[in-house]
Amino acid sequence: MSTDGTDLIDDSEWGFATLGIRHAELRGSEREHSPAIYPTSSFTFRSAAEAAAIFAGDKPGNIYGRFTNPTVQAFEKRLARLEGGESCVATASGMAAILTLVLTVLKTGDHLLVSNGLFGSTINLFNNYIAKLGIEIGYADLSDIASWKAGFKPNTRLLFLETPSNPLTEIADVAAIAELAHAHGALLAVDNCFLTPVFQQPLKLGADYVIHSATKFIDGQGRCLGGAIVGDAQRVGKDIFGFMRTAGPCLSPFNAWVFLKGLETLAVRMRAHEQNAQRIAEWLSRQPQVDRVHFPGLSSHPQHELAKRQQRGFGSIVSFDVRGGREAAWKLIDQTRLCSITANLGDTRTTITHPATTTHGRISAEARAKAGIGEGLIRLSVGLEDEADLIRDLQTALKA
Ligand SMILES: *Cc1c(COP(=O)(O)O)cnc(C)c1O
Repeated sequence: MSTDGTDLIDDSEWGFATLGIRHAELRGSEREHSPAIYPTSSFTFRSAAEAAAIFAGDKPGNIYGRFTNPTVQAFEKRLARLEGGESCVATASGMAAILTLVLTVLKTGDHLLVSNGLFGSTINLFNNYIAKLGIEIGYADLSDIASWKAGFKPNTRLLFLETPSNPLTEIADVAAIAELAHAHGALLAVDNCFLTPVFQQPLKLGADYVIHSATKFIDGQGRCLGGAIVGDAQRVGKDIFGFMRTAGPCLSPFNAWVFLKGLETLAVRMRAHEQNAQRIAEWLSRQPQVDRVHFPGLSSHPQHELAKRQQRGFGSIVSFDVRGGREAAWKLIDQTRLCSITANLGDTRTTITHPATTTHGRISAEARAKAGIGEGLIRLSVGLEDEADLIRDLQTALKA
């Protein structure tokens, strides 16, 4: 083992779990084993000449916390490596990552083509704030290549999608859409929040940017807000970084430390989440009160084959339609004891949501119906409790 962390070790042969734990390990002057948090807004120089050299970029070094911080950089390096990217810029939240991306890449007169059914705040950001800057927003059906093809305009500059979608777990063919984007001179960004690099690496499928809300599975215990953008050394390492250090939506060192620790257990957590989710999805499929279960790990999922090809796992978001509409869905939610009624996801604790009246409550009833989000739909973010306890909880609630 090296004496100064693992920053300089050749880790090209390491597997995913080892990288998540050991890549870019930070070790400071006290030789602490767990990475240190550097709670400082600025950094000092040994001399005026050194200050000048670091400011001029002739010598590497930290200047100010809005630009770089060692704890934040350790998180960025490790996440970049796990996604197979060259650079990563961490941000204050997932939404700050998306805002940073579009403000860096797009200008007035450009066209942004996005998938239907994006995360609610993402749709709001695009329609109510980005559109105000004279950037056109267009929509395509996530899983329909013809719809993406039809969506291009001569000024299409960026494509943005989430796969699997929330809450219905629809899947986009990332490689095919990346190819289309590049053929039209556009770039593709994929929000990889639901699967994390454990189960999907969009850059390897041809995407140009990966977006994260680290708030979800990367934290994994529902404590901190944060986000990230991963990509190549020019587009992310220089261009996105340039916006971030100027505009200031930067990640705090404490939150970066929580996420860095989160990456250490990400691989085992995601596998355990998925195992619970698979069993619960299968169990739900057998219940007479349940009309339909949406989970890419079920062979009945319309894109099960694509999911198997493109992903290394199916994630832990399971949605299902209960018979009896809103009344039955609300009753079921209220009868659970173990599941937390909250819109957050990616926690050790299983969360339960009624999308039609919460996360998707602000869109029109017609748009909801078109998107397949019915009044009887319930979304679970399956946590890490014992599977038998979760099933017992859902069984009691379903019976009532
Ligand atoms: C939560 C979420 C976001 C936004 O992230 P915040 O950290 O809450 O700002 C973006 N995309 C998806 C898919 C999310 O689930």
